[in-house]
Amino acid sequence: MTRVAFIGLGRMGHGMAGRYLDAGFTVAVWNRSKAKAEDLIARGAQWATSPEDAAIDADAVVTMVADDEASRAVWLTKDGAAATMKAGTLAIECSTVSYQHALDMARELRGRGLVYIDCPVTGLPEAAATGKLTLLVGADTADLDSAKPYLAPIGNVIRHFGAVGSGTVYKLINNLMGAVQIASLAEGIAMAEQAGLDMKLVAEAMATGAVASPQVIRHSRRMVARDFSGASFTAALRHKDAAYAVKLAEALLAEAPLLGRAAVEAYARAKAQMPDDDEGKMIEIVSQPK
Ligand code: NAP
Repeated sequence: MTRVAFIGLGRMGHGMAGRYLDAGFTVAVWNRSKAKAEDLIARGAQWATSPEDAAIDADAVVTMVADDEASRAVWLTKDGAAATMKAGTLAIECSTVSYQHALDMARELRGRGLVYIDCPVTGLPEAAATGKLTLLVGADTADLDSAKPYLAPIGNVIRHFGAVGSGTVYKLINNLMGAVQIASLAEGIAMAEQAGLDMKLVAEAMATGAVASPQVIRHSRRMVARDFSGASFTAALRHKDAAYAVKLAEALLAEAPLLGRAAVEAYARAKAQMPDDDEGKMIEIVSQPK
């Protein structure tokens, strides 16, 4: 039976690992804290004592962890997955990492005979648990073709941007634009509240007017209602993505990415005050009256 090692069982990874079980794969799982694996183990996943242990005999290793540091830890430290992966095995990185990290990992894992697939995703944890993620792939076409059976359980759209790293480039652009939108939305809602506008009307106007992107539609309702139940994307992760994106922008553009830097600053404040809370709580930071 086809064997997948799945590493990182946070909000996103937990649901993604479950998709491999539902699809009939043999699944070994590892997470830094074991508690998040218990129900997957009850559903048939095999608990591994380390990423290295999970990767033994795997046909593909899929990772979904927080950031560059976590990614390096699960792939390349002494008990990292690369230690036991056979030559030719697929190394599918779904975490949102920096562009330079994606290039470095591709070089280091290829140097060990592994096939690196740059595969960050868009979609909320609900999409992760139902196999409806959009996969933003950077890989050689032949490598992507061999990875497709392992991508099918987790995503229903594959966007192939080009060579390794290109999926991450697009993901960082996407999430920087999201950071700018959410931070500016928080300021707009805070201004409307302080000016005494009818907030039901404001929410309706924002969700149906010219600025009504999916981010604005989702977060305007939650911000106006101060309803942050079911946090899906934390302030710390939004800050991380925006900071990685601005670093990339600085390498690509002659002019400083002004809006991007402002969003990084805004999310640095949110991260300092409420790192594990929903990114939409930005409204609480900007809504202090004068
Ligand atoms: P999360 O719930 O905070 O989970 C983070 C995961 O990373 C956990 O499994 C955590 O282990 C692990 N981790 C963190 N630091 C580690 C380290 N040093 N060594 C080993 N493992 C470490 O985050 P998430 O929302 O699932 O996001 C995971 C990735 O997907 C991130 O790159 C994020 O940017 C990206 N993403 C998220 C969303 C979303 O809507 N949430 C959407 C698209 C992409 P513990 O459980 O032990 O803490």
